[in-house]
Amino acid sequence: MAVDTPATIAILGAGPIGVEAALYGRFLGYDVRVWERGRIAENVLRWGHARMYTPFACVHSPLGRAALVAQDAAYRGPADDAFVTGREWVDRYVGPLAATDLLTDSIRERTDVLRVTRWSGSKGGCEHGDGDRDEMPFRILARGPRGEEIVETADIVIDATGVYQNANWVGPGGGPAVGETALRSEIEYGLPDAAGRERDRYAGRRVLLVGSGHSAAATAIALAALRRDHPETRVTWVTRDRADRDGGPVPRLVGDRLPARDAVAREANELARASRTPSASNGFEHLPGWRVDSIARDADAFRTRLAPDSQSPTNGPVRDAVFDRIIGNVGYRPDHGPESELRVHLCPTTEGPFELAAALGEGPHARGNAAYRPADAGEEPDAPGDRSEADGESTAPSARVLVTAEPNYYVLGAKSYGRRSDFLFLTGLHQIRDLFTIIGDRAGLNLYATAARLPH
Ligand SMILES: Cc1cc2nc3c(=O)[nH]c(=O)nc-3n(C[C@H](O)[C@H](O)[C@H](O)COP(=O)(O)OP(=O)(O)OC[C@H]3O[C@@H](n4cnc5c(N)ncnc54)[C@H](O)[C@@H]3O)c2cc1C
Repeated sequence: MAVDTPATIAILGAGPIGVEAALYGRFLGYDVRVWERGRIAENVLRWGHARMYTPFACVHSPLGRAALVAQDAAYRGPADDAFVTGREWVDRYVGPLAATDLLTDSIRERTDVLRVTRWSGSKGGCEHGDGDRDEMPFRILARGPRGEEIVETADIVIDATGVYQNANWVGPGGGPAVGETALRSEIEYGLPDAAGRERDRYAGRRVLLVGSGHSAAATAIALAALRRDHPETRVTWVTRDRADRDGGPVPRLVGDRLPARDAVAREANELARASRTPSASNGFEHLPGWRVDSIARDADAFRTRLAPDSQSPTNGPVRDAVFDRIIGNVGYRPDHGPESELRVHLCPTTEGPFELAAALGEGPHARGNAAYRPADAGEEPDAPGDRSEADGESTAPSARVLVTAEPNYYVLGAKSYGRRSDFLFLTGLHQIRDLFTIIGDRAGLNLYATAARLPH
C-alpha cells in the first residue's frame, strides 16, 4: 500500500539503522520522528571500545556522507578501508549525522517507547484484517527524560530498536539460572572492556565467562590479554557445546567474508584448546559442555553451581565454584513488549518477524541459513553476512518479506534478525532501500545507488 508524503513515520531507536532510515525518509519528504531510549547509538556505545569487523566503507551510506558534506563541506569521515571502533563509528559518523540540520529536530533522545498500538480497536477484539482498525493511525506512548509520558500519532512505524539491550539468560536451556533474575543487575551481559578501561574491575579477580559466540570470544581474548599483565586473574570459560567442530567452542561461519571476525573466533578457540593441554597453567580454564545451574551472592563473591550440560539435574557430578565477576555473553533477543498489541507473526526459533525469518531459512522447517537478500539481488549471493553461500539452497526473498501482518508496521535492523547475531549494517541499508519502495510503492527507488558492498 503506497503511503504518500507528507505522512508521518515514527522510527523507534536511533541506532545506526534508525538514523539511516530517518535520513532516507527525510530525503523523500516524509515527516520523520525518531524516538531513542538513550543517547544516539546507545547500544553501539556500550561496546564502543571494540574494533569493528567491517571497514568503514561498509558501515556508512552514500546518503549519510552526502548529508554530512552538505552540512559541513570540511567533513572528513574515516577512510573507507579503516576498521574503526564502535565509539569512533558513533563519534565520526552516526552522531554527526544525527546532528545534521536534516535530522536533529526529528530525534528525541532519552525517550523510551513503551507501547505502540492503533488509536482504536484491539488486535484480539476483531477479525484479522479488520479494515477500520487497520486504517487507524498508530498511537505511540513513550516516557521522556523527566519521566513524563508522551503520546504521538504516526501513519507508519519502523521498529529499529535492536537487541543488545535485552540479553539472554545464562542458565540451563536458555532460562535463568536459580538466583539469576535477582542478580541480573550484578552480572555483566555486554562486552566489557576488560583489558582496557575496565581492567581494574577484572584484574586479579576470579571471572566466570559463559557463552560461545563472537562476543564471548572477544571477551575471552580480552581476559587472556589482561592475564598477561595480571597473571593472578583466574578465568573459567563455560560453553554449553561440548563439540569442537571448529577447533574450539566458537563456531566459525562457512567462508566467513569478514576476516577480522574469523580471526577472533580462531584466536578464542586457540585459547580454549591451549587451556586444556596438560601443561597449561590453571589460570585460564575452559569447561566445554557445562552449564550454570545456580548463582547466589554474598558480601564477597558469587557462589555458583556448575554441571555438565548433558545430565539431568539429579545425577552426575556438579562443581561448586566461587567467582568475583560473572560475564554472560550468551546472545541477545528482541523485546516485543512495545508492539505486543500489534499483529506481528514471530518465528518460534529466532523471535524475528516470521516472513523474514522463513526467508532466512529459520524456524521449524529451516532450509539452511541465509542473509536478507535485497530485492534486486537476483541469483548473485551478494548480501552481506550471507551464511548460505556454501549450501546454495536458499531462495532470494523479495522486499515483501519486510511486510508484517500489521499494515504499515515494519521491523528493520538488528531486531529484524531476532536472536541471530550476524546482522550487519549493510544488510540494514538494503532493508531501508527496499522498505521505501514498499512504502512509496515505487519499485526501483534507490537513493543508495552507489552504496558500498562487502569486498568479495
Ligand atoms: C562487538 C560488535 C561488533 C560489531 N561489528 C560490526 C561490524 O563490524 N559491522 C557491522 O555491520 N555490524 C557490526 N556489529 C553489529 C552492529 O551492532 C549492528 O549492525 C548495528 O548496530 C545495528 O544497528 P541497529 O540500529 O539495528 O540496532 P542498535 O545499534 O542496537 O540500535 C537500536 C537502538 O534502539 C534503542 N532502543 C531500544 N529500545 C528502545 C525503546 N523501547 N525506545 C526507544 N529506543 C529504544 C537503543 O537504545 C539503540 O540506540 C557489531 C556488533 C557488536 C556487538
